[in-house]
Amino acid sequence: MSHYITRFAPSPTGRLHLGHAVSAFNVWAAADAAGGKVRLRVEDIDQVRCKPEFEAGILEDLAWLGLTWDGPVRRQSDHFADYRGVLGRLESRGLIYRCFRTRREIAASLPAGADPDEARFVSRPLFFHEEAQRLVHNAAFAWRLSLEAARAELGRAWQDLHYLEETPAGLLRQLADPSPFGDVVLARKDTPASYHLACCHDDALQGITHVVRGEDLREVTAIHALLQALMDWPRPVYRFHRLLLGADGKKLSKRNADKSLVAFRAEGMTPQDIRAMTAPA
Ligand code: GLU
Repeated sequence: MSHYITRFAPSPTGRLHLGHAVSAFNVWAAADAAGGKVRLRVEDIDQVRCKPEFEAGILEDLAWLGLTWDGPVRRQSDHFADYRGVLGRLESRGLIYRCFRTRREIAASLPAGADPDEARFVSRPLFFHEEAQRLVHNAAFAWRLSLEAARAELGRAWQDLHYLEETPAGLLRQLADPSPFGDVVLARKDTPASYHLACCHDDALQGITHVVRGEDLREVTAIHALLQALMDWPRPVYRFHRLLLGADGKKLSKRNADKSLVAFRAEGMTPQDIRAMTAPA
């Protein structure tokens, strides 16, 4: 039996566009080459931006492209309790803490232009009475993963955080350093999970052995390696595909990058045309 399970994990914040098609073709090509399976996961944690009609659109677009997946679709919003469970386990080990700083306060403490969610922001838990006071007043907060606590818990294993990357030259062992991300947000008061938490939890739960995704997600893989080490989740092998470039080798024009597959289809394009447009130069 082949033991190669990968996944396609779009977020239904709109219809699929060419960038998604590139990702999907890479995922299915890798699975086909290995005689493996593809699971479909709808990453709809962000219930404000994600819409059921876009999810239906994703299924329709994949069917149009001729891409079929194995097993049931996993919709993350149906599993908020799972992610809360992970948070509970991390909290009981003192690995996460409530951070009440507003985005504005965090931005003010960071270099200009840094994204408060992604930059090197490190804080610490409040004292019990201060925290209780804020909770009584229903203050908003983010659950942050404490790098300091994680480092202390992992001990020597911290130095050895890594992931395996599949490249044309073979399997490379990549050291993973999550420090540049600071204490990452794993959930918020009213949002039970961040992308990082839900993604890593589901990769483990769905038995994903190989993750094929865009190279824009290479850096955050360090955060994923950390979560996998802390939660003792199996580590998939990663492969990062090139992002779609325009004919001139530069980033795709906004017009084409934003154009949905359904719009190309309405103009009479076929799935083969989409493949040709997204094939590497
Ligand atoms: N939902 C993510 C996206 O659409 C998937 C990222 C991943 O493959 O891990 O970018």
